[in-house]
Amino acid sequence: MAAQIDHTRTYGHLIGNEWVQGDSGKLIELRNPATRSIVGKIQAGNAADVDRAVRAARDAFPAWSRTEPLERQRILLEIAARLRKRHAEFAVMESLNNGKTIIEGFLDVQNAIEQFEFYAGHTHLRGEVLDFPHSLALSHREPIGVVAQIIPWNVALLMAALKLAPALAAGCTVVLKPAETVCLPVMALAEELMDILPKGVVNVVTGYGGDVGERLVTHPDVRKVSFTGSRATAQKIIGYASHSIIPQTMELGGKSPNIICEDADLDAAAESVVMSTVINKGEVCLAGSRVFVHRRVRDELLDKVTSLLGRIRFGDPLDPATQIGAVSSEVQFDRVMSYIAAGKREGAQLAVGGERANVSGLADGLFIQPTLFTGVQRDMTIFREEIFGPVTSVIDWDDETDMIESANDSIYGLAGGVWTRDLTRAHRIARSLETGTVWVNRYYNTRPGMPLGGSKQSGFGRENSHETLAHYTQLKSVVVNLEEGPIGLFAPPRVSA
Ligand code: NAD
Repeated sequence: MAAQIDHTRTYGHLIGNEWVQGDSGKLIELRNPATRSIVGKIQAGNAADVDRAVRAARDAFPAWSRTEPLERQRILLEIAARLRKRHAEFAVMESLNNGKTIIEGFLDVQNAIEQFEFYAGHTHLRGEVLDFPHSLALSHREPIGVVAQIIPWNVALLMAALKLAPALAAGCTVVLKPAETVCLPVMALAEELMDILPKGVVNVVTGYGGDVGERLVTHPDVRKVSFTGSRATAQKIIGYASHSIIPQTMELGGKSPNIICEDADLDAAAESVVMSTVINKGEVCLAGSRVFVHRRVRDELLDKVTSLLGRIRFGDPLDPATQIGAVSSEVQFDRVMSYIAAGKREGAQLAVGGERANVSGLADGLFIQPTLFTGVQRDMTIFREEIFGPVTSVIDWDDETDMIESANDSIYGLAGGVWTRDLTRAHRIARSLETGTVWVNRYYNTRPGMPLGGSKQSGFGRENSHETLAHYTQLKSVVVNLEEGPIGLFAPPRVSA
């Protein structure tokens, strides 16, 4: 399968439906973290590249924003069809550049396809009519203009789809900045768009965050920024957005609680703990990285989890039998290992893993053993900070009120899980969690159409849903007066006889 990918390829920026060489002349190497070999090169963009891309998007906006909804629908379905046609190739690219298993690559591509299919059903922007006795108010929903979209590296293609599909459905034009470490499938998607979309509707500028991001967000022709990434970068972007006072949506990190009650289906709950630790090597914003397990079932749950984790198969991520991939980059590898060290140092008990994993034939690969800490306390670093790696913390509880207080003791509020057979309890706990999503009795149970996003410092705005269109549009009120003549405010005063 890997033979289909040209590892020597250098991608330009996509500007005005052409590959354009960057102004700096500098390149960035994309690597396969399982082997550290180069899988492609991208441009190290700068402000001049951003200016060209924004100009192309600005020029494309008037016509694209007036495209018939059915035409936009056909285009979104065509993008989905192209991805489906090359499903395996895109899955390989996602796996090669990110290090995830090929099975996860296939799932990511499927999820990306579904974003385009979902928003194909949402290309009619709906306004409202308000009737008053003597006037008629029309509330039009209009595309906001050129949007800046900045995405991370953990699910690169899906991130691009989550951003592009609603923006295109709404009639916006886009400058997308993918992550500089992982963007191979995004560049391949960009190439597919060249003959599907009118010139300049989607532009892709690659490069380091600071070099590209600041100009992109502060550019006077950009009307909105949609960002997915870390809290630290979000703080900078919110600052940039204050320059031209543009609206923002922020999809940030998490430290999500996965709550297991004493009446839970423990096999299913144990599987969810393993999934959260292992899927995409834990590089998932929604990961249930804090497991709150009732003391009465703690030992039984831990037996099941440790036994499953002990059987997780390492190997070449492109081998369909492999169950955990390589961590995406050296920076990420070092970050995860330093959190594991902090867990040990601060007194958590290492129940499983905790070391680099040596995978036969892949000596240079950035593999980390799935790691489980028990006895984790609220003041520990691994309880408080997002690790974004295959590391899960287990916390025991007896009292539901105290447990909820502890689960909510986080600056983040992205997601959460509850495992119980008691429906009333499930609702009670779900409603008391300060998170954007709560899954009852199945973690990661996400469907297109279900709003996804954070509360607290996990961000604001929602993706994956009809509501997302509100972020790419604005309301205009047109008020039609139905009375003849002037109001009479300045008529001469009446003189009584
Ligand atoms: P990051 O913030 O380092 O990078 C994200 C993107 O921002 C990259 O494209 C990067 O180049 C760019 N960037 C960096 N500095 C910038 C700057 N000064 N101006 C503009 N752009 C800049 O995040 P990351 O490490 O790539 O991603 C991991 C984070 O993303 C985690 O916190 C994770 O939880 C979060 N995430 C959130 C969601 C969600 O939907 N909530 C989904 C996936 C990932």
